[in-house]
Amino acid sequence: MRKFKTESKKLLDLMINSIYTNKEIFLRELISNASDAVDKLNFKSLTDDSMQVDQDDLSIRVSFDRDARTITVSDNGIGMTADELEKNLGTIAHSGSQEFKTENAESQGDAVDIIGQFGVGFYSAFMVAKRVQVVSRAYGEDAANVWESDGLEGYTIEPGERAGHGTDVILTLRDNEPGKDGEPGENYDRYLSEWALKDLITRYSNYVRYPIQMMVTRS
Ligand code: ADP
Ligand code: MG
Repeated sequence: MRKFKTESKKLLDLMINSIYTNKEIFLRELISNASDAVDKLNFKSLTDDSMQVDQDDLSIRVSFDRDARTITVSDNGIGMTADELEKNLGTIAHSGSQEFKTENAESQGDAVDIIGQFGVGFYSAFMVAKRVQVVSRAYGEDAANVWESDGLEGYTIEPGERAGHGTDVILTLRDNEPGKDGEPGENYDRYLSEWALKDLITRYSNYVRYPIQMMVTRS
């Protein structure tokens, strides 16, 4: 297992034990990353004549498996090599998160505004997931790799399989938490419905310019 860098660990702790309760933004963050990955592939194809990118094929897919309690966000974008998985997901130090942490320390009320302004990024997946797997194959590479973590101390990167370039982010949802002392619990199963996911996509990801397909069947 490779250990998270200190900054990443701090951010993860903050995410997981979040005083910020709007957990549902995880889907927006994953879709926004998928959209960026497709943008990057598009951009690369503009400057490289040898690349054949069919615009009609570019899409983002959201699927879920009620039995396995997983939600998967897939894209056929640029993908990541093993080194890129390490670099991009092992260390998170983007300005949005940094800003969020600083401001968040001061008041909880402001967090809501801040989160709206800045992306909180990939690690927000751990607000709802007890395990995250990222299966990725970089454009132009034959091999795929799997990054996996429970969001606590570290992560692993192993060889994997994927048909074609792009990335699948597979979330295994946290166990439902019963409420106690009159406080409401947390029901993560509520995300496991076509209606719920579509609602999140409409509310948070309306701006995305690639088609977002919903798959209801097992992923
Ligand atoms: P940001 O999107 O602001 O850069 P994130 O925490 O959301 O920060 O993601 C960190 C990095 O991980 C991204 O910058 C990107 O390099 C990489 N990444 C995340 N998701 C994907 C994806 N679906 N495809 C390719 N790269 C990704
Ligand atoms: Mg992002």
